[in-house]
Amino acid sequence: MHEISIIESILEVAEEKAREANSRSITAIKLQLGEFTAIAREALEFAFEVARLGTLAEHARLEVEVVPMILHCVVCNAEPQPARPMSLICCQCGFPLQIISGKELQIEFIEIEERYPAITAVA
Ligand SMILES: [Zn+2]
Repeated sequence: MHEISIIESILEVAEEKAREANSRSITAIKLQLGEFTAIAREALEFAFEVARLGTLAEHARLEVEVVPMILHCVVCNAEPQPARPMSLICCQCGFPLQIISGKELQIEFIEIEERYPAITAVA
């Protein structure tokens, strides 16, 4: 998967929010990661460790909430669990299932430091 580019675009959004608020530091980013995205949470967290360096989120905490997959059958109206992993066929009537939730990756919130730090270190 492309976790690094996913995290980079999330960091871009977060940095834009921080700049809009005149903040120099992002303290936390919370993501909702759908179970059906095929993106591994650990890979996202690892990508964040690398990608945050040199950004406003360098000291930010990343929280990832995994959103369970919810499926829906348009024929019999069931919301079954898949019969086997990644099987999107209704186990009650055999019809293809709609994915109601579980394929999202979205930013739930971005927390930023309100004030400028008193001292800025120059390398
Ligand atoms: Zn069904």
